Amino acid sequence: MNRKRFIMVCFLILLVNMQIHAGTFSISILNEHNLSALVISPDKGKYRLLADGNELYAAGENDLVYVSMTGEKLALRNQTGGLGIFTSVSFEAIDEDGEFSIRSVEPSIERGYYHGSIYLSVDFGRIKVLNAVKEELYLAGVVEAEAGLGFHPEFYKVQAIISRTYLYGNIYRHADEGFHLCDEVHCQVYKGRLTGNRTVYKAVSGTSGMVLTCGDNNLITAAYHSNCGGQTVNSEELWLIFRPYLRSVIDPYCRSGRSAAWQRRIDAAEWGSYLESMGFKKNSDHADNSLFSFSQHRRFVNYSIGGFSIPFSKIRSDWNLRSAFFDIEVQNPGKNIFLKGRGHGHGVGLCQEGAMEKAARGYNFIDILQFYYTDVKIVDINDLH
Ligand SMILES: [Zn+2]
Ligand SMILES: [Zn+2]
Repeated sequence: MNRKRFIMVCFLILLVNMQIHAGTFSISILNEHNLSALVISPDKGKYRLLADGNELYAAGENDLVYVSMTGEKLALRNQTGGLGIFTSVSFEAIDEDGEFSIRSVEPSIERGYYHGSIYLSVDFGRIKVLNAVKEELYLAGVVEAEAGLGFHPEFYKVQAIISRTYLYGNIYRHADEGFHLCDEVHCQVYKGRLTGNRTVYKAVSGTSGMVLTCGDNNLITAAYHSNCGGQTVNSEELWLIFRPYLRSVIDPYCRSGRSAAWQRRIDAAEWGSYLESMGFKKNSDHADNSLFSFSQHRRFVNYSIGGFSIPFSKIRSDWNLRSAFFDIEVQNPGKNIFLKGRGHGHGVGLCQEGAMEKAARGYNFIDILQFYYTDVKIVDINDLH
């Protein structure tokens, strides 16, 4: 990193830190798109429209601003005409509860609704859009985007604590780009204010400050997945990284969940060719393919047959399977292979469908988190600084 870049990164990290202390986070929204033209409009409250640091005017409901990329700059116009060409443009909320909407014209993307302020600039040939949003509003958006609606309040508390733990554990992930997190799966999915569901918001505010730690108060990697199929996975078996809190647990709660079971039929010859391409050598004693059978009465790391072995996680990714937890049955004699699977997702950490069921049976969020994450503590983030 050259000196100029180093100073720039230090400045951005300082900026990122200042925002954390104000309880506000900077999220790169529509991060995966190459935005070149968009429309922004305040929906609620008053906004200051600033261009290159100078206030152009105060904008309110029914005001629209069109922003388009022109070279390294942004051309701005509203309903009455052009406002100029600038390096940076922002809509800063004057009121605490300011809300705005944004619609990308190029490429065409459905309108999104957000809380807080918005900062625009051109970065790597696209418009970078940063949303400065209060912690609880950001987390409510994440919980709704990641978990959906219609679940028990205790389940939303679980998701809120997981998302807050992720937020504070990853606040420097994009520091050299001048923001905290992106809005994609890379960080946490965030699509703005969505429906603003009260149960979700209450779960976030009801667990205010709570994060998960282990050992010497280190924030954990709170991994989760849809359904473990009845047994979660030790972290090192999938990611080769040992985490004392990501231990395999037997989970009786997700077995009637909607992702509890799946099945896939594969032609036996195709299955054999696949295994041979992985190094398997077929023995003529098993012309009926019976040696392909395998039962995971509990989770196994490897599929081992006739001296050959391959990780189930590798089979999962090669065949795009819902989980790596499946039995292999040979049927019809030797023509078909049936993969009979359990669960959905990587299986490490918290099982969402199991957590939902535990919440429905009356367990609280502490019981649920401590069931799936071994020997963790729930502490206030403000006590960790
Ligand atoms: Zn990210
Ligand atoms: Zn489970």
